[in-house]
Amino acid sequence: MIRKLLKKLPTPFGRAAHRRTTPSVIPASQHNLRRERISKNAVNVVERLQQAGYQAFVVGGCVRDSLLDMTPKDFDVATSATPEQVRATFRNARLIGRRFKLVHVHFGREIIEVATFRASHADDAETGLAQGDEKSRQSESGRLLRDNVYGSFEDDAQRRDFTINALYYDVSSGHIHDYANGMHDIRERQIRLIGDPQQRYQEDPVRMLRAVRFAAKLDFEIEQHSAAPIPDMADLLFDIPAARLFDESLKLLMSGQGVKTFDLLHYYYLFEPLFPATEEAIEQNPDYSLALIRQALANTDDRIREGRPVTPAFLFAALLWPALAPRIKALEDQGVPTIPAQQQAAQDLITEQCQHIAIPKRFSVPLREIWDMQPRLERRSGRRADQLLEHPRFRAAYDFLLLRESAGEDTEGLGRWWTRYQEVGEDQRRKMIAELGDKATGPKRSRNKRKRKPRTAADS
Ligand code: ATP
Ligand code: MG
Repeated sequence: MIRKLLKKLPTPFGRAAHRRTTPSVIPASQHNLRRERISKNAVNVVERLQQAGYQAFVVGGCVRDSLLDMTPKDFDVATSATPEQVRATFRNARLIGRRFKLVHVHFGREIIEVATFRASHADDAETGLAQGDEKSRQSESGRLLRDNVYGSFEDDAQRRDFTINALYYDVSSGHIHDYANGMHDIRERQIRLIGDPQQRYQEDPVRMLRAVRFAAKLDFEIEQHSAAPIPDMADLLFDIPAARLFDESLKLLMSGQGVKTFDLLHYYYLFEPLFPATEEAIEQNPDYSLALIRQALANTDDRIREGRPVTPAFLFAALLWPALAPRIKALEDQGVPTIPAQQQAAQDLITEQCQHIAIPKRFSVPLREIWDMQPRLERRSGRRADQLLEHPRFRAAYDFLLLRESAGEDTEGLGRWWTRYQEVGEDQRRKMIAELGDKATGPKRSRNKRKRKPRTAADS
């Protein structure tokens, strides 16, 4: 089937480019990847598998990144050994994964991920494997639910997502095996899907997110045939399990290229299925919403560059913030008092968002605290300001306030006030509180507004 589809495409997207049955083998003298760049543990895994009689290569992101002189995040190994055979070769190996069965070989803190050569679904169809087969299952839309059909080295190259991710490095010979013209695309700085883009996105819509992620990370272009179907297919992401999208959204937005990645996601209509409520807020109030999101991501990118800690709680608080105010207002318009309206809107928005991106409790709880502290930062009378300063979430809440202001929100100088309050001594602080007068009480608490029932004779 894939052949038929590929035949329709003009070269270099046709069979000649992507369905080579023999790889182009690039000897060590013709590429700049040196064995020293590969983690010793990955080399060890490959060599031991080869000694046990299996084929084994390092593959994927680590080959790609090393060729581009970037430091790989982790090292993946592909082998002809089955997961059980890999496990039998190493004492420190664990079988993991449902969608993909993998083996993790542990070396202290480093984990080498070892995957058995697999065939693509298109090949399953060719070999007559029925849909619904327990090893490879598809949803109605053609999405691969499981993908554990083992295959040859050649099959494995074809089922990978992008040509630049299908380069296999043999640490023993120094050869790079290139089945899909990946070296060409590394040189041309192109993100190009292997095979028919529409079909490959249909099988796994997350590949659209990966295209954008690699384009931003590597500063590559998405090749036009790979880019063209994305806007029309973006909504397929609505069907992806929310837990997978949580992992993917962290890789997208917390890898140091957040601003660029966000702009690409938005450009390709991929942001909406990830953050539908925020997309609506962007449409209604683009200047403020986009300024806030980009500023939050720019701060995150800076912190990552400087090696400072970043938390998904703060970033998600910012990404969802533009959607919160309209919801609070809608509830207030229905007569709900301010504070319960804030609570309910926050709760509803997080619950709704978790249907798309499953934010774990350890992040959604502090996210809520950052939001809940925003109106509290206005109420500074008496000892309140000092109590807030002691709050474990104060620093995040204060940073969040500054972020809102930098996006153009008018808080009547609240950020400046808090900056100064932290700098001055006790006497000055008392003076600052006294000078606030009425302003220090902030929004009225709901209990002030609560309507009392008319007294009855029984009350008196
Ligand atoms: P990085 O680790 O920098 O995020 P990577 O390319 O190594 O990038 P991984 O998610 O670690 O990405 O995947 C390892 C390899 O597995 C990829 O290079 C690619 O060959 C293959 N792969 C991963 N996800 C998919 C997918 N959704 N469809 C097809 N192949 C995939
Ligand atoms: Mg990787």
